[in-house]
Amino acid sequence: MNNTMRTKAILAALAVALLAYTQAQAQETPKPPKMVPEMTEFWEPEVRVVTPAANSTSAPSDAIVLFDGKDLSQWKATDGKGEARWKVKDNAFTVGKGNISTKQEFGDFQLHIEWSAPDEVKGTSQGRGNSGIFLQDRYEVQVLDNYENRTYANGQAGSVYKQHRPLVNAMRKPSEWNVYDIIYTAPRFKENGALFTPARVTVLHNGVLVQNNVELKGPTEYIGLPEYKAHGKAPISLQDHGNPVQYRNIWIREL
Ligand code: MG
Repeated sequence: MNNTMRTKAILAALAVALLAYTQAQAQETPKPPKMVPEMTEFWEPEVRVVTPAANSTSAPSDAIVLFDGKDLSQWKATDGKGEARWKVKDNAFTVGKGNISTKQEFGDFQLHIEWSAPDEVKGTSQGRGNSGIFLQDRYEVQVLDNYENRTYANGQAGSVYKQHRPLVNAMRKPSEWNVYDIIYTAPRFKENGALFTPARVTVLHNGVLVQNNVELKGPTEYIGLPEYKAHGKAPISLQDHGNPVQYRNIWIREL
């Protein structure tokens, strides 16, 4: 074997060895990259800036104001017969004839709404200061004067009517203002109309948690069991239950 042949044989042996090594490397499970803090820090998209109001019960910069104390221009009669005709006075409005609904329709949202039971304490159980907030025109968060007024638990203030009792009774006295902060996730439906995911709601009553992300069973019914029917975005409606409940400072943030 001359030198040239020897060199060629060595090179060939090296090539075989290198190929075997490369194949062995390829078959090995790749090592996970070394973890560094930056790997779990996401910068994009940047979180949107929202300017909170000086007073946290007032509308932040990205809210849609549904009632600012002046007029009911954001509302209409639920029955389709024109404008909302409930009376506005002293930065609030009082329940009048027939339900009213927002002109705008909503899906998922955060809603802030303040309400006061009638100054004159009258009636008992469901007859005292009854109104209600219908989320997507179907799912009622009960408004009722339950200050020293017993009624069925799943129908009192802060309940999802006849579906979920409030965790506690956080009522203020009649003539004092109550605050609801409601976080709502709309139900999703399949193309054939069947339920995909139910609606969910969280309710704070005067800053106290009364509904903790509960699952709605369908529209809140006075009689019978709830059953979902497919729907899209829908208004917020307020109930006329014949009692002069007052509302003020209403705003909503679409999610
Ligand atoms: Mg009601």
